[in-house]
Parts: sequence; C-alpha cells; structure tokens
Amino acid sequence: MTTHGGLPGTSRPDRGAVLPWKILIVDDDEDVHEVTTLALKRTDILGHPLAFLHAYSAAEALALLRGDPDVALILLDAIMETEDAGLEAARAIREDLEMEDVRIVLRTGQPGQIPELESITRYDINDYRTKSELTRERLITVVTAALRSWRQIRRIQNSRRGLELIVKASNQFIAAEGITSFAEGVISQMASLFDLEPEGLVCASFAPPDRRGSPETAACGDGDRSCQIIAAAGRFRGLIDRRVTELEDDRIRSAITRAFEHRETVHEDSSLTVYFREPSGQEFATWIDSPRPITEIDHDLLGVFCTNISLSAANISLVDRLQKLAWTDQLLGIPNLTALLERVRSVLSASAGTDTILALCDIDDFGAINDVLGHGYGDNVLRDVARRLQEVFGESGTVYRVGADAFGVVTRREVMETVADTITTGLFEGISRGHPEITMSVGVALIDLQEGDPSNQLQNAFIAMKRARRAGSGQIAWYTPEIGTRTRERLQLLKHLKDAFSEHRLYLAFQPQAALDDGRITGVEALVRWRDESGRNIPPDEFIPLAERSGLIIPLGYWILDQALTALSRVHGAGHPELTLAVNVSANQLKHASFLERLDDAVARNGIEPQALELEITESISMFGIDDVLKLLTAVRSRGIGIAVDDFGTGYSSLSSIDRWPISRIKIDRSFVAGVGSESNRGRLVDLVVPIGHRLSVRVLAEGVETAAQWEQLHEIGCHDAQGYYLGAPMPLDELLEWLDRRRFGAPGG
Ligand code: C2E
Ligand code: CA
Ligand code: CA
Repeated sequence: MTTHGGLPGTSRPDRGAVLPWKILIVDDDEDVHEVTTLALKRTDILGHPLAFLHAYSAAEALALLRGDPDVALILLDAIMETEDAGLEAARAIREDLEMEDVRIVLRTGQPGQIPELESITRYDINDYRTKSELTRERLITVVTAALRSWRQIRRIQNSRRGLELIVKASNQFIAAEGITSFAEGVISQMASLFDLEPEGLVCASFAPPDRRGSPETAACGDGDRSCQIIAAAGRFRGLIDRRVTELEDDRIRSAITRAFEHRETVHEDSSLTVYFREPSGQEFATWIDSPRPITEIDHDLLGVFCTNISLSAANISLVDRLQKLAWTDQLLGIPNLTALLERVRSVLSASAGTDTILALCDIDDFGAINDVLGHGYGDNVLRDVARRLQEVFGESGTVYRVGADAFGVVTRREVMETVADTITTGLFEGISRGHPEITMSVGVALIDLQEGDPSNQLQNAFIAMKRARRAGSGQIAWYTPEIGTRTRERLQLLKHLKDAFSEHRLYLAFQPQAALDDGRITGVEALVRWRDESGRNIPPDEFIPLAERSGLIIPLGYWILDQALTALSRVHGAGHPELTLAVNVSANQLKHASFLERLDDAVARNGIEPQALELEITESISMFGIDDVLKLLTAVRSRGIGIAVDDFGTGYSSLSSIDRWPISRIKIDRSFVAGVGSESNRGRLVDLVVPIGHRLSVRVLAEGVETAAQWEQLHEIGCHDAQGYYLGAPMPLDELLEWLDRRRFGAPGG
C-alpha cells in the first residue's frame, strides 16, 4: 500500500498541476482499449483529468500494478488467457499485491457468464458489466462512481494515517520529535479531510524563553513572540525551523500572520490556514497549499478537526513543556546548567576560531548571606544578581544558573573584558535597592574545540573561578592551558587519594618522642602514609592539602584518629602504658560539627585515657574566629586531652592570642631546629622561641632533631622534649613495637 496519500495520485511530476486519475485498462482485445480511451478522452471527472495505463493480460496487469500503487481504477476484462483470468487477477490484486483501495470494474463480452456473487464481494469488485451495456454515458457514470469511492477510501486511509501519527506523537512524549511528528500528522489529516495535497506546514507561536507563560499576545513578529515552522511536508519541507517573518513567500506569511492575529481559519483561493489553540494557550496554524481553488469547506468538520488536534496538541505540548522545564531554573526562571552545556555544544559545533567565552560567576560568601539573613533573603539576592547580570550583558550575553549561587555567562571575549569590574565588585553600584556588599569570583575560559567537550569547557571556567576565589573575593581569573594542566594533575591525584583511602591503602607511621634530659621515650606522633600502586611514597605535604581542599580530610581525619588510638592501645598493651599519642588535626576537622562527639567516641571505644592523647593543631586555626577557637580548645582540654601547637614559630598568629589558648605544648618547627648547632643566625631563633614556651608554662618540644649536637644544645637552652631522625624516623606500628623493645634499655640516639 502506498505510504503517502495525495489525491488523486501522489507522484506528481510537475508541481502545482492538477493530478489525473490513473485508470488501468486490462483487456486482450486491442479494440476495447481504443474504444474505452476514446469514450473517456477529454473527460474531467470530479475535477481531475484521466490518465490511462494499458495491459493485455492478467500477468501484465499485475506487473504494472506492482510498480504503480496509485492506480485508482481497473477496467478489467473477465475472460482473457483463461475463462476466469479476470477473477483470478482480481484475487491476486487483493490478496497477493494487498491493494485494497484500487477500484475494480469487471467487464465481459458474453452476457451469460456472470461470476458468483460471492467472488464479487470477496474481491471487492465495484461493478460487473457487459461491454455492450457500457455506452459512453454509462461508462462515465460507472467510472465516476468508482473513482469517488476510491477517493473516499484514500481519504479514510490518509486520515487514519494522520490520526496514527497524532496518536504516535502523543506516545512519543519524551522523544524530541514529539511535536514535529504530531504536526506532520496534522498536515496529512487536514489534507485528506479537505481533499488537498499534503503539502504545507505547521507553525507554532512561541513566547521567548524568559517570557513564557504569557500567551496573550499572538501576533507573529511583534517582537515578543516568534512564530516558527515546526513541521512541513512536500515541497515545503525545507522551511522547517524557519521563522514565519523570514519567509519569502508572501502568501504563506500573510495567511499565517492573519490566522494568528485573528485567531481564526483563513480560507483563501489557493490555500487553507487552520488556526488552533490548545487549552493552555499554545497556538498553532497549519497552512496547506492548494493548486486549485478550494470551493467548499465543511465548517462543522473543520470545527471537529480543530477541537481534536487542539486536545492532542495539549497532551504533547504538556510534555514539551516538561522538557522545557528541564532547561530552566525554577527559582530564577533563567536557563540552567543543561541549557548552558547545550549552548556550549552548539558554540563548539558552529565555531572555528571564534572568541566566545564561558564565564562562571560565583557569589562570594553566599553561604554566610544565607545563614545570617535567611533563605528568603538569599533567594532575593539570587534574583537580583540574575537580573543585574542580564542587564549588564543585555543582548550580547546569555546568563545561566549553574549552581546554588553560581551563574554561567556565554558571551564574547571583549564584552567580558569590558564588564569584568562591574561583575566582580560593582554589580549593584549606583543601584538603589541594591546589595552593595556583594562581590563575585569570576572564572573565564575561552570556548575552544581543543579543550574537548562542553563539560570540559565548563571545568576550565570552574578551574579559573577557583583560582579567582583563592586570590580573595571580587577577583576574576582567566583560564590558561597551563593552569588547567596543573589543576587536572591535582584532581587526578585527589582521585587516586580517594581510591587509596577507600581501598585501605593508607596507613599510619609513628615517630617517637623523648625527654631531652634522660632520653626516656614519652610518646609517639602518628603520621599518615600513602604508598601508591607503583610503590611510590607520596608525601603527606602533597596530599593533605588536597584532602583539606576537597573535604576528604573529614572522613580521612576520623579514620586516622581511630587507627592511631587503636595502635596506641596496642602499644600500651605491649608494655608501654606511659606513652602518649599525638595526632595531627586540621582546622577543618576541628570545625566539623560532630568533632567532639566523634573524638569522645574514638577515645572511649579504644579504651584510652584522654590524658594519653594530644591533638596537634597549627596556628592557622585562629583564622576562624578567636571565640570559636577558644570554645573548642577549652572543650578538648576539659576532657584531659592535650593540645600541642605544631610548627610553632612559622605561623602568623599573634602571640597575644595564643597565650589565651588552653594549650599544653608547643612544637618548635624543624626549620628553626635545623640551624641549631651550626653557628648560623637561624639557630639563634630557637633561643627566642623556647622562652616563649616557658612564659606560656607549657612543654616545649623540638621537631626535626637530627644530630647529637642539636640534642645537647636544645637541652641546654631549656627545651623539654625532642622528636627527629636522631631519635628515630616515623615507622609502621610493628616496627615501632620492636623499636620500643630494643630501646627499653638503650640510650638516646641508640
Ligand atoms: P608535621 O606534623 O610537622 O610532621 C613532622 C614531619 O617532619 C613529618 O613529615 C616527619 O616525617 C618529618 N620529620 C620527622 N623527623 C624529622 C627529621 O629529623 N628531619 C626532617 N627533615 N624531617 C623530619 P611527614 O610525615 O612528611 O609529614 C608532613 C606533614 O604532613 C606533617 O608535618 C603534617 O603537617 C602533615 N601530616 C602528616 N600526617 C598527618 C595526619 O595524620 N593528619 C594531618 N592533618 N596532617 C598530617
Ligand atoms: Ca605534627
Ligand atoms: Ca611540625
């Protein structure tokens, strides 16, 4: 069966011409062919001329039909090669060729031979006539009746196909082609309903993305709305996706514009434009071309048709809207991350050497704004920032929301350069109801094919943004490939670290600490170790800062604490119950909400006296507020747990604040110790630092003691304890236990 449904036929050699009905004459008598064509020549039936095909046997007829599915009528001789050649041909046409629509008129020379009624109905034979009976007039009547019925059948078929397309479209809810395939269905259904060629287009009227939901103004090209062709059939196919205002064809443009303006069907001599609107307001117009004047339109039918497709469209555009939702940020009503990535994708595919950039703008300290002023206020800030950004970029850039308080902008490089200051520090400058305190950290990356897929491009902007953020607030940073490489290496390392952590490939080493006066071992410091799969030791100085920045330090820190305490209970059990354990704890760990709870839990679970534990902090924790530090440290000390200030002397905290901290020890940084015993000026610094410890009434431990001379001198100037290679390097627990056993009766440095 044919897959396209024009009337009368569908293969049109020259466009716009009126198509003829195709009539196949099958007869073994040459004269019959001649008489028939003569009788019907120059006759127009139902507005179409006739075209004849000729076959002289049943076999020939079948072969011909196979190649031409649009034959409307067969005038079939009943008796040819055999007595029942005609009937047999009719059977083959219906059953073998499965041509159900073609009409068959059976003709016979002998009046006596009437086929059984049963065959006539079974093979859907329209008429059975003797040739002599068919005068010219009778023939025209018979042919007209048959052609009318063929047209009817075709219409029903087309209409069913149109419906099928519409139904299919409703089912293809999620598929992007939903609305398009629906629109194609509308064209073909409308064509068949009004006896037109399925040549035309469907146009939808859209509000621009930021003004969605206001379908009240309908006119095409009135700036607020755009009328776009969403489906087209036949020779109008090339117009898909075009805007109506851009069409060269006056006829189409004016008809569609009128349909939208007056919200009604426009019936013109050579076209029909049906307007319909789905309940929620989405509007459509279907324009169909007609080569001949459209005489009568059944308005009832049109009404039913429009209601029908409006409802279908409602279903489909509901889904369409759901899809659009997926592209829009719900809070701010601007395009979201998905939309941004799509935009970057299209920039990438369109550009060779453009200068389009992607910027990520992150509001500085938005978390604090939210915490202090509340989420409602925070939402308003986001709205204002989004609006201001849109104002600043205007037509020359698009603003996307890509994260809680982060916006993406796609624009040209020079635009970004011009507005950089405004965006970073002056967004609300001179704006009355503004938020003058708001600054943004901005990272900019050129959208560049070399940099890979859209998510890579986004990552580049993100890397730049992070860099800007590290430089302080209200800064802008431009991505460079070098920065990218470094960052990606770090990210790679972080990924490996996470794997190593989750696959238990991290372990602890313990470094002994001793009293300088008699060399007795007083405790150990736990130091984390990472040997990667290739056996390389990655120093904690490299990966701890990574863990800090990524937040991994929180779970990692709890794990270290627990492991270290478990190790300590083994050390105690192995006959060294007097030893203490020092564990390094970073500011981020201390700040963690459940730190104290987890600390208590780990201490209790491992059966450790709190006095045996010491936390090593650095002066950098003073960065998060003196009061908070004091409160936390006091809470730790009140449990009997010691607190040592690590790397003492290298930090920038004022001594005046440290002397209020409830600490129990300072650890003089090894850079000071290194100079000790070497006559250099640097060694003298220890002379200054040790007395500070005395003044604070805490124990003083020297780190990085590597020689006997350092040991002696540190002892002399009043340092209490020491830790360093001279005493022993950090070692795994088993080694430590052996070392402790050997040391039990040994001497310092032994
Ligand atoms: P830190 O807390 O100051 O640790 C002392 C560092 O000095 C250790 O380096 C240790 O191996 C090294 N060291 C010990 N004796 C000597 C010596 O005689 N001479 C010299 N030149 N160095 C010596 P490591 O293990 O590489 O640790 C480096 C830093 O990584 C640590 O400095 C600490 O800030 C951090 N870290 C190590 N383990 C942890 C941990 O479990 N948690 C946290 N938050 N940080 C850790
Ligand atoms: Ca330490
Ligand atoms: Ca240290």
